[in-house]
Amino acid sequence: MYSIEYAIFLIYYFNEILHQNLRLSNPGTKAGLGAGQVNYMLKKYFIKTFGCQMNFSDSERITSILKRRGYKSAKSEGEADLIVINACSVRQSAIDRVYAKVHKYYKAKKIILAGCILKEDKKKLAKKVKTFWNPKKYFNCFPIHENKSVVYVPIMTGCNNFCAYCVVPYTRGREISRPASEIIREVKSLVKKGYEEIMLLGQNVNSYRNPRPTLSLRERGLGGEGNFSDLLRKIDTIPGKFRITFMTSHPKDMSDELIDIIAKSGKILKVIHLPVQAGDTQILKKMNRKYTAVYYLNLIKKIRQKIPKVKISTDIIVGFPGETRKQFENTVKLCKKANFIKAYISRYSPRPGTAAAKMADNISRAEKKRRWLVLDKLINKS
Ligand code: SF4
Repeated sequence: MYSIEYAIFLIYYFNEILHQNLRLSNPGTKAGLGAGQVNYMLKKYFIKTFGCQMNFSDSERITSILKRRGYKSAKSEGEADLIVINACSVRQSAIDRVYAKVHKYYKAKKIILAGCILKEDKKKLAKKVKTFWNPKKYFNCFPIHENKSVVYVPIMTGCNNFCAYCVVPYTRGREISRPASEIIREVKSLVKKGYEEIMLLGQNVNSYRNPRPTLSLRERGLGGEGNFSDLLRKIDTIPGKFRITFMTSHPKDMSDELIDIIAKSGKILKVIHLPVQAGDTQILKKMNRKYTAVYYLNLIKKIRQKIPKVKISTDIIVGFPGETRKQFENTVKLCKKANFIKAYISRYSPRPGTAAAKMADNISRAEKKRRWLVLDKLINKS
């Protein structure tokens, strides 16, 4: 059975093909354009991307859509007729920059807003933005790759986890995975073109579920057919000289099966990004991370036993509501034991609509900065 999200995705996809065909058969006209749609013919675009790899990957796909529609790339925002802003809502500062761009250009240019954006912000910007694009819209487009060393392949988008501080489930919606057959086709084509490193992307890559499993391998006792381990196993068998990486994994979905595949593969890099976010179990509970500090440390221990040369990086939030000095010290202790090669550390800031936004943001800016510096010195500067 296909999910509702998948049905919506198919409608987007076929709508996209229909409009593309109409425009190609009527070049230079507005054929196929309805109310609220942009005339894409013979004009210049500029894409401004904020945020993470998912947004950069989406921008590569947006580039491909606009080029297929006859748009040319502009060297600067000023030169463009159409500006696509690929937004990030993870921090207030990021969304402030999106507002600044929209206000600067909306009178002179058409603006498409894409990426992670909350409903409330969409409403506020609706009069100034021509249209909003949902990331699911361009999931299936073959991208134009900007980065020649690492090439991104999105395998899923959205999130079902609702970590208390995070807007992703509200901006990108619930998890939706791409069919494994499409992903494999794309990877094969990239390998043929000579790309050497393929990074599989998703908010939670390791909760990937193939929406179109074809064979009942599990029933025949031949292993699974639909989870992230199965997908990695299949990609690993594609002939060619290339490396596989993936981002981001949730600790609760890091199965033994997955660790074994990484350990045995000659193509999967022994580098794992495994966000811990905090090293205190009470704070992890408030964050709704669904694991304890002990679970995380045991997981790291198991990974290191099975993959001795593994490099593990992480994400940490300091100054989450109510985080005491003692609880922060527990994070410091965990980091000392975990021996991360790198940490992306952020100072907590409330995001509207999230569970944490209802909690008192009671750690001062100075204290958040102090905690940030302690961890940065411990992990990134040592
Ligand atoms: S797992 Fe948590 S932090 Fe990651 S995208 Fe989902 S809600 Fe956000």
